Amino acid sequence: MASRGVTPGDGYGGYRAQLVETLRRKGIRDLAVLRAVAETPRHLFVPESVRHRAYEDSALPIGGGQTISQPFVQARYLEVLALTGREKALEVGTGSGYQTALLSQLAGTVFSVERLPHLAQQARQVLEATGCRNVTVLVGDGTLGWRAFAPYDAILVAAASPSVPAPLVEQLAEGGRLVIPLGDRQAQVLTLVQRTTRGVEQSAIGDVRFVPLIGEFGFRE
Ligand code: SAH
Repeated sequence: MASRGVTPGDGYGGYRAQLVETLRRKGIRDLAVLRAVAETPRHLFVPESVRHRAYEDSALPIGGGQTISQPFVQARYLEVLALTGREKALEVGTGSGYQTALLSQLAGTVFSVERLPHLAQQARQVLEATGCRNVTVLVGDGTLGWRAFAPYDAILVAAASPSVPAPLVEQLAEGGRLVIPLGDRQAQVLTLVQRTTRGVEQSAIGDVRFVPLIGEFGFRE
């Protein structure tokens, strides 16, 4: 597991501990995921206007019409990926960079693609400031994946898509796991896609609501 430079002693530890307790109560069991939440300063990833709500278990606006997802949903994603600390992971939809930071503690290397340059730039700065060294943030259409670093052991798509973008399945390693919200713009089902020797298998995890994945293999703008 990658270790980060900063273990925050920032006055928010009590709030983080409460958030961890909430996630545990709602059914998150993976200790590595809970530890990542306990050690990641979510308040640094949200705009100042909503900082006082950073440790509520709710989605919050991050500007540009985008949102940082609900911690419970983010934790569920990471639990479903069942990471060991060695994986090469691809994230589509960096947003605030908070989930990227969690992922960076649970995987070996993380490549994260964001469509909006200003969000990517902001996320890079916070990730750097919080000591996430094994992360590269790229600007582009993540529905195309990122071929240069493929294949990926884990792929996390943080925006809603009508179907699984074909390039992402192609770039998933055999034995790899991909999580993506599938549905229309209003409602989706978080779905686990596994690539095995027998082919590609899908299973439903639960109902979710995400902003749309906009790109060649997602929704049109
Ligand atoms: N997990 C993020 C929340 C992401 S919200 C967090 O913790 O903050 C979804 C993000 O996906 C938005 O930032 C949006 O701009 C981005 N996005 C939408 N379509 C995309 C695409 N085709 N490629 C990359 N990013 C995309």
